[in-house]
Amino acid sequence: MRRLLVLPVLIAVLMGVELPQDGPVPQENPRPQTKQGSTPLPAAKPDDAASAQAVPVPQKKTDPDATEVEPAGAEKSNPLPTISTPKPDEVALAHCEAELRKLGAVFAREETVSGENGCGIEAPYKIDRIIRGVALSPASQLRCATALALARWTDTVVLPATSALPGKVALTGINHGSTYVCRRRNNLPTGKMSEHSIGNAIDIVDFEFEGSQPIGISPRQGDGDIEEAFQRAVRGGACLHFTTVLGPGSDTSHAGHLHLDIAKRRGGYRLCQ
Ligand SMILES: [Zn+2]
Repeated sequence: MRRLLVLPVLIAVLMGVELPQDGPVPQENPRPQTKQGSTPLPAAKPDDAASAQAVPVPQKKTDPDATEVEPAGAEKSNPLPTISTPKPDEVALAHCEAELRKLGAVFAREETVSGENGCGIEAPYKIDRIIRGVALSPASQLRCATALALARWTDTVVLPATSALPGKVALTGINHGSTYVCRRRNNLPTGKMSEHSIGNAIDIVDFEFEGSQPIGISPRQGDGDIEEAFQRAVRGGACLHFTTVLGPGSDTSHAGHLHLDIAKRRGGYRLCQ
């Protein structure tokens, strides 16, 4: 065997061919790897279809607040802003739903709502309980991001305010005047469309408790009672979760409710009165 190899090696050396230095003379590989090695693509997995679907989707923000950033048209090539129903971002919606569940919300996603003049909600939510133990009435149609702002406000502002009420009081319900409505601001015949028309807004009318009378939103300036304190507290804290807070004193159309919405403005400006 070795003698047979001497001759070709000698010839190679004479011809200046570089051989592996002290390695063994190449031997036949017992395993036929060359054929597999020449295959340009890895073997297909049985669930290639599923993985192919999962792979090309770009990483999306899971921050639920991301859905509030004017998703309509923002990622498209159309550079002009359009007044249209925000497109649902399913990843963000799933995250939003998970956050709502964590707070004990009971809700259902409903069919897309659409109307004229840009009205509509691609993914409207009917909220039965906004957080654990707190009903939202009557039936609502909100974007998930709006519902989540409402849930967080209820959890971090309304509940603590309730706990400061005299006696043993528990928040059991929040009643609203409207959620989705296809209309212009302040119900005027002309002008900008209301945030209600895209599911971004809710009008809070009153709060119900176990162990206490309901507290309704009304002009209370100067009343000097616990109800005024409660109303001031929940209204002030609302600006942490919503970008628009209007109520008694803002104008005549908001004398009996708190208008809360998640409108996006340049520079993150908040309009809280
Ligand atoms: Zn309103």
